[in-house]
Amino acid sequence: MRAVQLVKFGEPREALQYTDLPDPKPGPGEVVVKIEAAGVCGRDLVVRKGAFPHVKPPVVPGHEGVGRVVEVGPGVEKELVGARVFLSAVYDGTCEYCRRGLENLCRNAELLGESRHGTYAEYVLLPARFVHPFHGVDPRAAVVATCPLSTAVYALRHVDVDGRRVLVVGAGGTGLYIAQLASVRGGEVYVSTRSREKAKVLSELGIKTAGEGDKDFDVVVDTVGSPTFERSLKLVKRNGVVVVIGNVTGERALISPALIILRQVKVVGSMAFRPWDIYEALDLLKRGLIRPFYTEYRLEDAARAHEDMERGIVFGRAVLIP
Ligand SMILES: [Zn+2]
Ligand SMILES: [Zn+2]
Repeated sequence: MRAVQLVKFGEPREALQYTDLPDPKPGPGEVVVKIEAAGVCGRDLVVRKGAFPHVKPPVVPGHEGVGRVVEVGPGVEKELVGARVFLSAVYDGTCEYCRRGLENLCRNAELLGESRHGTYAEYVLLPARFVHPFHGVDPRAAVVATCPLSTAVYALRHVDVDGRRVLVVGAGGTGLYIAQLASVRGGEVYVSTRSREKAKVLSELGIKTAGEGDKDFDVVVDTVGSPTFERSLKLVKRNGVVVVIGNVTGERALISPALIILRQVKVVGSMAFRPWDIYEALDLLKRGLIRPFYTEYRLEDAARAHEDMERGIVFGRAVLIP
């Protein structure tokens, strides 16, 4: 099969190699999915740079994928063949977190594209219970539901935004959806972005761009991380909530704990999403409540997609089409 492999950590063109790999064969309980569209996540860039010690090249990157089941192994219902599915992380379903419905925090999670081969490929092999059938959404748009929009769905479960002033820091792959969803949920939403293009599209959706003097937000959702964290703590109201979901640069943030204590700020981390958050995300797309944004790339152009993302010139999700 055609695939892009992370062969070493570093710059896109050295790290990502377009190559041929053996077609996967399903063992007992497994399925093979032919990928129709794979998303390039901000996390993939961090993985490529070598920030996660559990990632050992060579590995096929990518955790965002939509496709059709083309082959099933022994013990899997044959009816699944042909179904359009999205893929999820592999979790054990038995640890203390899984049992509490926090599969996103599973102790034994295996992330696609990190500890097992991911979606930058023609085919992906997975245990059947981690492929989830759906219909009614175009595969490229559905990729948006498999991570950025489901991350937004989960992030906004931690905080009530109805009738509140909400600032979304960063209008990148995920920020675009947090802003839209916070607006759908009744928030008065501002976005801080340097991109005029993104600001314009968001303004058409009723979302304002935060100016210099805008502060005292009830809720700040920080999708960037270290470079913006301190500012986010200052822009939230006293007793307000800062939800942190992004760590784009992977660097450390140096902040004074006094900022959190004296202004009594609640800082909430939100880690990815669970499979059923993806179903809710798909439903939001189906009902036309959220506009999916994506830019298509051929699979072989994955390195260029990474470069474009680093330059901040991709609007919405970069979606790889094998
Ligand atoms: Zn992602
Ligand atoms: Zn678990």
